[in-house]
Amino acid sequence: MVAVLGRSNVGKSSLLNALLRVKAARVSQTPGRTQALYWYRVDDRFYVVDCPGYGYAKTAKVSRILFSEMIEALLTTDPHPAALLLVDGRLEAQESDRSMALFLHETGLSTVVAATKWDAVKPSQRVRRLRELTKEYGLPDRPLQPVSSETGENLPALSRLVSAALQSRAESRSEPPRKSTAEPPDPSKEP
Ligand code: GDP
Repeated sequence: MVAVLGRSNVGKSSLLNALLRVKAARVSQTPGRTQALYWYRVDDRFYVVDCPGYGYAKTAKVSRILFSEMIEALLTTDPHPAALLLVDGRLEAQESDRSMALFLHETGLSTVVAATKWDAVKPSQRVRRLRELTKEYGLPDRPLQPVSSETGENLPALSRLVSAALQSRAESRSEPPRKSTAEPPDPSKEP
């Protein structure tokens, strides 16, 4: 199972639509106290779980506690989930994304980070932005992947990275996930 996470407005719905268009059917909805988790079955192989957006206090208040509970619930459903963390490629590193990346890292989830809306980043800024974001969120074993749902740029590469994360998750089944000591983001800190 892949849990897809990102700040509100990061482009998560657009990306999921672009990635899952023909492949997935929404199978169920797990009601939460404020927002639901949406489950998609992909190719009869694995689930994609669309998690609530965070980072904007004006949207549903997904508190730290709720996020912790949600991730714990996912871990109970599948003891070795992978995560796809989306960050906005147009913006410099955001505090809430840093917290989320750290949180995922500490849980030991096999995580892929993608920078969205890459079509809106000027070519002259791309190298520097990619270097910055990789430094902030990049994981030692997997590159940060810039993508655009609008143009379709790098979507196949992102699918391959997610498959690789699921594969490494499957191979590490003997290692139980750790409980994170890092705090997930506080949604009231930003717009
Ligand atoms: P969500 O809140 O994370 O689900 O974000 P949405 O998918 O609803 O997108 C938020 C806004 O970003 C919308 O105005 C989209 O049109 C825009 N957006 C999403 N993906 C892209 C992209 O790849 N490129 C550009 N330029 N805009 C995008």
